[in-house]
Amino acid sequence: MNVDVEIEQLTFDEKGLIPAIVQDAENAKVLTIAYMNETALLKTMQTGETWFFSRKRQTLWNKGETSGNKQKVKKITYDCDADALLVQVKPVGPACHTGAESCFYQTLYEAGQVPSDIIPILTSRIKERRNNPVEGTYTSYLFREGIDKILKKIGEEASEVIIGAKNTDKQEVTWEIADLTYHTLVLMELLDVSVSDIKAELYERHIKKAGKQDE
Ligand code: AMP
Ligand code: ZN
Ligand code: ZN
Ligand code: ZN
Repeated sequence: MNVDVEIEQLTFDEKGLIPAIVQDAENAKVLTIAYMNETALLKTMQTGETWFFSRKRQTLWNKGETSGNKQKVKKITYDCDADALLVQVKPVGPACHTGAESCFYQTLYEAGQVPSDIIPILTSRIKERRNNPVEGTYTSYLFREGIDKILKKIGEEASEVIIGAKNTDKQEVTWEIADLTYHTLVLMELLDVSVSDIKAELYERHIKKAGKQDE
């Protein structure tokens, strides 16, 4: 088999790179996604170890060169339209520079689980309900009614938070703070204030006023 002819059939992107999914040849675990240029791919095939092109450092990189956690290449396949590689390896050690076996150890979404951060999901839903109103949805109704209605709701929900707190009822107060949060996010959308704006403000205070009393 002529390897050079096969490489010519691959589609490298405009920067000369092709994504390479690195998989454990024995247990099929996905270890890493990295990028190869033509040189990295040739070096990988010549040496039987993984070589990549680091987009951050703009250099060729032999996995495990400094950590010792090399990957012995067993097989490389390419996908239907030849723009992605699957590199099956026998790893000598952890694939991730953090020491994790696989780079994929952080869960963003899991069916049936509460997402770790519902705020951006809710924010995007609110934006959608404002821009493409859906009859019968409460959020679209609030935007149709306008700012006075939204402000009235915020006042009401704040009072309900106070009542819940005075009752020292955790469930009630959780419910009411969720109500207040939701209506606050609706107001923020209307006034074009983002969650990042609020976070930036909180962070500013945190670093500047550390140790000072709240006003
Ligand atoms: P190593 O290739 O394991 O000797 O690690 C050398 C450097 O390459 C590390 O300090 C990281 O900057 C980078 N690196 C190693 N493994 C990964 C990986 N799985 N994903 C991204 N960068 C990596
Ligand atoms: Zn493809
Ligand atoms: Zn990693
Ligand atoms: Zn309420």
